[in-house]
Amino acid sequence: MSGTFSRRAAVLGAAALPIIQVLKGQSKSRPVVISSANRNDGGVNCCAKAAEVIKAGGDTLDAVIAGVNIVELDPRDNSVGYGGLPNEDGVVQLDASCIHGPTRRMGAVGAIEGIKTPSKVAKLVMEQTDHMMLVGAGALKFAKAMGFQEENLLTEESRIAWIAWKMSLRDRNGHTNWGPGLDAPPEKQKAAVLQELKGMFPDAADDVLAQAWEYAIHPPHGTINCISLNEKGEMSAVTTTSGMAWKIPGRCGDSPIIGGGLWLDQDVGGAGSTGRGEENLRVCGAHTVVENMKHGMPPKDAILDTLKRVSRNFNDDKKRLAAVELDFYALRKDGEYAAGSLWQGSRFAVSTGDAASHTEQSVYLYERSRA
Ligand code: ASP
Repeated sequence: MSGTFSRRAAVLGAAALPIIQVLKGQSKSRPVVISSANRNDGGVNCCAKAAEVIKAGGDTLDAVIAGVNIVELDPRDNSVGYGGLPNEDGVVQLDASCIHGPTRRMGAVGAIEGIKTPSKVAKLVMEQTDHMMLVGAGALKFAKAMGFQEENLLTEESRIAWIAWKMSLRDRNGHTNWGPGLDAPPEKQKAAVLQELKGMFPDAADDVLAQAWEYAIHPPHGTINCISLNEKGEMSAVTTTSGMAWKIPGRCGDSPIIGGGLWLDQDVGGAGSTGRGEENLRVCGAHTVVENMKHGMPPKDAILDTLKRVSRNFNDDKKRLAAVELDFYALRKDGEYAAGSLWQGSRFAVSTGDAASHTEQSVYLYERSRA
């Protein structure tokens, strides 16, 4: 995966030494940025931007925030920022957190509405207040006081997906307040709902309507986490998301929870996550990954151990775990990195300066059976 042979060998060869001692002995780091992959090359573009800021001598936190801003502002990524899928009321609520390694300071916002770039607000909570986290109306009020403009974050595509979700909630007798109803279980409603949607949104492309139905039935997994390391060994990290689609208003997942969806110890490294936040919070995932690295595990093993704890919470029952998507990303202070998912098939984005920003395969705990 990452790192040169000699770097890996140096760490493994010194297995008897505490990892911190080994890492402190290194003088110059290779700059590295990693992030979740995200659609439309979101992760690749994010890492490239962050690497560019670092190369120009910028701060590592400014770098990762500039990177994730690309995805927050992209209406096509409906798991992050502007264009994110809304809560059950049709309102987009965003969560974000950030950690600045060198100063060991942190900030977060939860369930903030009307601001396209919650990662920037999280950074201002860190810089301008004596608090760690602001939520809901208070977070919006703070953002506006800091000069942010309140905007409508619901794109037409996300609104159509929300309407499709409402329609999918009809029971077998079609009883809900949303439309006349269809006497069939959701999967069988597909053709009829698509036809109804076409009537309601005649200008919407067929693939937008089909996607809306897919989102309604299988709410997508999203979020972007990004972690950086510069030549001086300074590190920072950020996680930003619109959270779980169709959530109860006010629900916060793992992304704004320091230690859950994001953790970084300047002496060791950083970690973050995407996927089902509730399951991550039950193992304090990002903190667990970093603590595992602190005690000597390489990033890959640190992540797999954390995923095993998630699995343990389900008594390793793969049938129940099949509904859980969860990914972790880890970057150690010496530049060694990895990403890992509960189920096979994930990728993540990387920029090392050695090659153009690109994606690599994540390690995984379980293979999906091909039944
Ligand atoms: N981790 C995010 C949350 O639980 C959502 C996701 O990544 O899909 O809010």
